[in-house]
Amino acid sequence: MEGKANVYAGIVVDVPHVDTDRAFDYIVPDELAPWIQIGSRVSVPFGNRLLQGYVVQFKEQTELAKVKDIKEILDITPPLTGELVALGHWLSNTYICRLYSAMQVMLPASLRSQYKKKVRVTSEGQNQPLLLPGEREIFNYLGVHPDGVELDLLVRKFPEQTAFLLKAEREGWVETSQVVKDKITRKTLLYVKKKVKDEQIPGLVEQLSKQAERQKEVMLYLQDHEHPLALRDLLSELGISSSAVKSLVAKDWLELVEVEERRDPYANKKLEKDQQVEYTPEQQEVILEIDTALNAGEHAGFLLHGVTGSGKTEVYLETISHCLAQGREAIVLVPEISLTPQMVNRFKARFGDRVAVMHSRLSQGERYDEWRMIRDGKVSVVVGARSAIFAPFTNLGLIIIDEEHESSYKQEETPRYHARDIAMKRAQYHKGVVVLGSATPAMESYDLAQRGKLGLLTMVKRVGERPLPSTAIVDMREELREGNRTMFSRQLSQAIQERLQRKEQIVIFLNRRGFSTFVMCRSCGHSLQCPHCDISLTYHRNNRTVRCHYCGHAEVEPDSCPSCGSNHIRFFGTGTQKVEEELSKYFPGIRVIRMDIDTTTKKGSHEKLLQQFREHQGDVLLGTQMIAKGLDFPKVTLVGVIAADTILGMPDFRAAEKTFQLLTQVAGRAGRHELPGETIIQTYNPEHYSIQYAKTHDYQGFFSMEAKHRFEKGYPPFSRLILFTFSSPQVPLAIKKANDWAKKLRQTLPSSVFILGPIASPIPRVKDRYRFQCVLKYRNEKEVLPIVKKLSDAFVSQNKKDEVELAVDVNPQVLM
Ligand code: ADP
Ligand code: ZN
Ligand code: ZN
Repeated sequence: MEGKANVYAGIVVDVPHVDTDRAFDYIVPDELAPWIQIGSRVSVPFGNRLLQGYVVQFKEQTELAKVKDIKEILDITPPLTGELVALGHWLSNTYICRLYSAMQVMLPASLRSQYKKKVRVTSEGQNQPLLLPGEREIFNYLGVHPDGVELDLLVRKFPEQTAFLLKAEREGWVETSQVVKDKITRKTLLYVKKKVKDEQIPGLVEQLSKQAERQKEVMLYLQDHEHPLALRDLLSELGISSSAVKSLVAKDWLELVEVEERRDPYANKKLEKDQQVEYTPEQQEVILEIDTALNAGEHAGFLLHGVTGSGKTEVYLETISHCLAQGREAIVLVPEISLTPQMVNRFKARFGDRVAVMHSRLSQGERYDEWRMIRDGKVSVVVGARSAIFAPFTNLGLIIIDEEHESSYKQEETPRYHARDIAMKRAQYHKGVVVLGSATPAMESYDLAQRGKLGLLTMVKRVGERPLPSTAIVDMREELREGNRTMFSRQLSQAIQERLQRKEQIVIFLNRRGFSTFVMCRSCGHSLQCPHCDISLTYHRNNRTVRCHYCGHAEVEPDSCPSCGSNHIRFFGTGTQKVEEELSKYFPGIRVIRMDIDTTTKKGSHEKLLQQFREHQGDVLLGTQMIAKGLDFPKVTLVGVIAADTILGMPDFRAAEKTFQLLTQVAGRAGRHELPGETIIQTYNPEHYSIQYAKTHDYQGFFSMEAKHRFEKGYPPFSRLILFTFSSPQVPLAIKKANDWAKKLRQTLPSSVFILGPIASPIPRVKDRYRFQCVLKYRNEKEVLPIVKKLSDAFVSQNKKDEVELAVDVNPQVLM
């Protein structure tokens, strides 16, 4: 081996310290050399442990004196492409996060770790008397698995109990340990293969005893089959159990082989045929513009501003087929909630097997399978929620983000990326086209379009020239003055009554935020609060408990007030369950289909409820944000909004924008087909501009007014924000660190940058940690991000997480 220089690989390793957040050099052993590429996932010795890492560069030389060998390669195909590795570096610098988390976030969960967590119940946990039924069930399950259960399995088995598990771990009722597991759970099917020749079969079956009738049947059946048969198909075909096959395997006449099966989540669904439509003039024009950009082969970005029902999805489908015809690939992002089978079917019908679908209701295994189809180049379109933006395509032509204003495109945990930014970045690399579509574009996007940074495409007409639904605003204060104490205004009641008579359908929308059902004492006004967080406990009727949505704390519903002892304690608020009750009370016999977190936790239940509504098994679809968009039902002619203004009261600079978007989207649900639609919005702020402009479907009017407010207050799109949140179990420590931080920023950053705070966060305590925040406002001065990155790295290396933690949110959606 003389003269041959060792080749070194720079590897980003899974060590949770900022000091180690860079590539480390390792030797690429000869036998592994052919396997190891940029983007490979490997395991390497680090200290005295074996850790997972990603190869990010190759080197001829290293400055290190002692270099170790890469120990193992974990995948045949490197999970990351060179483009994605570069994107990871960019993510880390742009969103101020560790390089390793940036690499991880681009991959499906099952690839993120070879170490699986196992969970065991402790004796203390076994002896907990105060458990609720569901929680008891987990502990019983753990009790019969003394070696522990994989966390992943446990979470899947008890999907509602995640918060409880968090608490159980904190309380020491369960303990977790790591076990090495580098095998991905692949779903396999058993196939039956003959080990004897067809000519031998008649002779062989002669030897079988009289009792072996079944075995004879199997052999004769297989005699004429050329291809291996799936065991389950064989059994169901012959109506027999597997014992006959097993005996034949023992005789060595047959063998069973395991073959990997792709878990196609849509395997058993019938697809409606895609019917070619004739595009409207508006659609034709938009399609032409996008195609021209695709043909030019240069990076381009568009904002497609089209009213609900203007046929945006048809535009997506058409331009994707042009993209595929060029031999390039396409990503379509839709909000999680609108990833309905209806939506997915439109893509499947058009592109068939070339589509992969990714959303959070898939199991980890299913998601991994879809991802692998992309990585292996077996599909060329992916339709998915936020994280599908990282689909490992290598020749991307088109990225579409539908409902681009949706806040779910921003990840709310580290790395706090926005899919829109990633789309732009990836399209630049691939010289591809980005299309952002919305009826109510985000302020930032419309601003970019106005300044010519995005091409503006507009579709103002609904398909078939159907009118936008007429919208009425009802002042609920007036209703109260007139003596109506119900949650339905007279106008809405009458409209519901009419629809019931005409056998048309109704959507009733409840804005849940700020409307959770809290528990209050009517005698003394005491409301139940979480002992660990500054937030009210929420009432859950199914199991008569009150729970904290932040930390999972749960108690049995009290019979009397813990403060004054009165038994006039009861739950308040207008939750969906409450609305359902009221509907049944005022409209006897009304059939309500309720969609909220409680009714849709089970896999597939979301789809099932929608299907029921489509089949007119319900008069009313009642729900929260979940039903605000993407749904398209021919018989819906009335949309009622119970309380339009709950968001307006939130400490959120986007409150007006969100209210406008939500109302416009909701109103778009009615009258999308032959029957004309009507929307009734109930509110306590009828004069607010977000409500007024929503009434007239006037986006430009809203944009100008909102832009004026944002400009005056220096909020985006007229500035950029970074939110810093400090949390600590000790108030003084959190305050001190936040103060030091603000001072440091003021000293280091140019004077054109504003630093606000520190102040207490709007939710001042979560999980027994006190929270303070600082906000940085800037105009994209180039030095800001690098300085913030350096300072926050320093902060993290100087402070222990459990003492004081700093969270950095670049371009936050909300300041809380
Ligand atoms: P959007 O995404 O803008 O809300 P869609 O693409 O879902 O609009 O279109 C709304 C409805 O109109 C859908 O049922 C769609 O199939 C239908 N549609 C769209 N374009 C056309 C067209 N050119 N001719 C006939 N029907 C169309
Ligand atoms: Zn709590
Ligand atoms: Zn009381």
